[in-house]
Amino acid sequence: HQPLCECNPCYAGPNCSQFISNCSANAGSGDPYFLEPFWMERPEKSGILVSGWHRMGYTYSDGSYISEMLVKHIKKLHQLVGNVVTDGRFVVFGGGSTQLLNAAVYAYSPDSSLQSPAKVVATAPYYPVYRTQTQLFNSRDNRYEGDTSIWKQNASSVNATFIEFVTSPNNPDGKLTKQILNGSNVKTINDLAYYWPHFTAIPSPADQDLIIFTISKVTGHAGTRFGWAIIKDEGVYEKMLSYLDSNTMGISREAQLRALKLLDVVLEGDGKQLFKFAYSTMKNRWTKLKEIFSKSKRFSLQKLSPEYCTFFKRSRDPTPAYAWVKCEREEDENCYEILKAAKIDGRGGSLYSAEDRYVRLSLIRSQDDFDILINYLTKLIDQE
Ligand code: PMP
Repeated sequence: HQPLCECNPCYAGPNCSQFISNCSANAGSGDPYFLEPFWMERPEKSGILVSGWHRMGYTYSDGSYISEMLVKHIKKLHQLVGNVVTDGRFVVFGGGSTQLLNAAVYAYSPDSSLQSPAKVVATAPYYPVYRTQTQLFNSRDNRYEGDTSIWKQNASSVNATFIEFVTSPNNPDGKLTKQILNGSNVKTINDLAYYWPHFTAIPSPADQDLIIFTISKVTGHAGTRFGWAIIKDEGVYEKMLSYLDSNTMGISREAQLRALKLLDVVLEGDGKQLFKFAYSTMKNRWTKLKEIFSKSKRFSLQKLSPEYCTFFKRSRDPTPAYAWVKCEREEDENCYEILKAAKIDGRGGSLYSAEDRYVRLSLIRSQDDFDILINYLTKLIDQE
């Protein structure tokens, strides 16, 4: 039952106990290794064995690319957590939520030979894939048009459809957000990748027209590449389905089988074990982080307020996946470089269309990565 023993890249030796001196803290990518210990405690229950003859065909027995049983599991999970309304909603699967982001842009875009191309927008600081993906596909039916702030006053009078990405809690700063633009010509794609008790209070179930989730940030299986969209309107659902059909003929049957098995384990008993584990891990990490930053005048963390959580039935502080650090000194214009010189590898603010005075630090990696990060942060802040 032992996992393959691979040392954290900062450690060597037979027991992975020798720290490689001067090794930088990896606080860059959002690989969700913080959930690995939960799954290591459940090695057999959470495993699948796929025989050579299993599901060799393209479709399920009903001719679709979507496992009905998995749809039921997903709806059960949402009902348990109370983070989204699923009654009467349609569900589409994607290769990670990444594939669904563009499927949703496609579904909301008009035929540009008849109307102006849709304007795709987001509010800084935002997850860069919304922009890079729209630009990569370079469709005649939609175009990336910058920050919502440019359109805030006049969106409703512009003769075009707006497609606004709303990320809540937001990546990188962890804030619960709402749509900025108003008007009957505004459609929103609500990316709720982090709307789980791991990271935030759940004040009420979301019920926007188009909502996207991913398994990556709930069970932590980013490598499975599995996401889902919850859709109100049948026409939008049909368009997203046809995108998925033409693009990849749905999602790998093995990925769907693994997702089903993982959700089976999550839903076991009272269905709260994963959420208790994830929240307590994130809470411990945030307690340590806040303590260190409370001693600093040079660096600050994002300010977040407690909210009532309907899942835990009490008020709680947010425990976001990322620290959004600001360098407060006038001269510290490039915060990424300052942290890098102190052996802390984060991601610079400009990647998220914010100032380089900000840096994102990932808090959802392994315990080793987090401990190394805390170590270097302590040293840096002690020097002040
Ligand atoms: N949306 C947001 C806000 C994210 O942070 C991420 C992953 N970092 C994704 C979508 C994509 O997730 P995936 O493709 O793994 O489902």
